[in-house]
Amino acid sequence: MSDAVKVGFVPMSAALRGIVVVFCDESLRIGPATAKALGLAPDLIKRAASAGQFKGKDGAVLDMLAPEGIQIQRLIVIGTGKPKDSNKDGKDKDLKDKDFLKYGGSLAGKLNANSEAVTVFAELPEAAMTPDQISALATGIRLRGYRFDRYKTKKKDEEGGLRATISIAVADVAAAKKAFLPRSHIADGVIIARDLVNEPPNVLFPEEFAKRATALRKLDVTVDVLDVPAMKKLGMGALLGVAQGSARPGRTVVMRYDGGKRGEAPVAFIGKGVCFDTGGISIKPSGSMEDMKGDMGGAACVVGLMHALAARKAKVNVVGAIGLVENMPDGNAQRPGDIVTSMSGQTIEIINTDAEGRLVLADVLWYVATKYKPKFMIDLATLTGAILVALGTEHAGLFSNNDELAERLVTAGQETGEKVWRMPLGPEYDKLIDSQFADMKNTGSRHGGSITAAQFLQRFVNDTPWAHLDIAGTAMGAPKSEINQSWGSGYGVRLLDRLVADFYEAKR
Ligand code: MN
Ligand code: ZN
Repeated sequence: MSDAVKVGFVPMSAALRGIVVVFCDESLRIGPATAKALGLAPDLIKRAASAGQFKGKDGAVLDMLAPEGIQIQRLIVIGTGKPKDSNKDGKDKDLKDKDFLKYGGSLAGKLNANSEAVTVFAELPEAAMTPDQISALATGIRLRGYRFDRYKTKKKDEEGGLRATISIAVADVAAAKKAFLPRSHIADGVIIARDLVNEPPNVLFPEEFAKRATALRKLDVTVDVLDVPAMKKLGMGALLGVAQGSARPGRTVVMRYDGGKRGEAPVAFIGKGVCFDTGGISIKPSGSMEDMKGDMGGAACVVGLMHALAARKAKVNVVGAIGLVENMPDGNAQRPGDIVTSMSGQTIEIINTDAEGRLVLADVLWYVATKYKPKFMIDLATLTGAILVALGTEHAGLFSNNDELAERLVTAGQETGEKVWRMPLGPEYDKLIDSQFADMKNTGSRHGGSITAAQFLQRFVNDTPWAHLDIAGTAMGAPKSEINQSWGSGYGVRLLDRLVADFYEAKR
């Protein structure tokens, strides 16, 4: 794993050296335990703040070198916004999980390879942070600290890699450790997904991807790898049509984790895993084609999610399935005009070989729907450039045949900050992919491209409650945030883990 940040928990009374991080609101007060441990002059932050134009606003950072009166190298102050007493109801000032993630991210962003000893005081001005808040903070630190530098043989350190052990000073060490354990598995899942997306396509091709997914076996996940003869036997003609142009054979990987009641229908996640997408015979222009190594972001998310769920022993039965291919132009590649027969028996006329993701998903969706009869299926795919036109990089496109599932995804998106925006489906759009020669064609017209892609997928889900997430704008090349500086964002792992935790896990 490409993260070198370790997070540990220590009592508030821990001895101090190096770098200290504290939290302060717009009253420029810090918490009493923090003040006591540091022996800070009560007005130190106030004085430094006026010089540094720091007002304690939410997310603002004040960075002081060798502050007077305490024996530390650096004091970093993170603003948390309005003081609590400005909020009449008292209880909380609406700081959410995602705020603590953000604080963790912004403090980690101030550290670098030379930041050896770091202590973060997990106290708000008015109260010690709760174990949940602390674990969100720790998660933010880990996600921000991630770097993908395994192919850099020089200059790693100057590029801001974080190689630190960060001690979080807390009121209750045991409670913080306990709360962080499941969250640390979720962070691992995000990092696994990022690593897969960032890997170059000469290293990560279908067989290698499948091999990496088998690492889940050590977490009691059953991993079955279907090779080309096995997929032929199942009749996966849509997926195999895409794969046939590559020297590297395709694979379908099915992962199963049973943490729920025996015999209860599983929830299912399906990922598009086009390890490299040249467009095939309908070849793409060369500008930015290298980004198409990320066309497996959906599959990467599913593997990261399976890791998170299995490692934290989620009380749910879950199936993950990913279709892995490489879309290449070749003497053996499929042509526009070809008609393929999918596993469902429905025939597809290929209009554009660059609309390959839906062909891969068609067979994997059908396979999962018919074999596992899941409670719901959610597929993730870097499916269309059109979703970037519609939504930019702030939301994934959400398409669903089930309002309850869609609403739950929207809620989980708001909670985690991995946002989704619902887009329409309908018979008028469905008509646009009827073909004059086969049951359907694999592209509609240019307009509504993300919608016709989703309509295509819907023809392969039977009556299963289903949602499709078009993550072309969020999984890769996404704008950097406080908790992500990586090209591959790992989008979807936290979203779907939360969906499962909040709505589908048996309560303990
Ligand atoms: Mn394509
Ligand atoms: Zn693609």
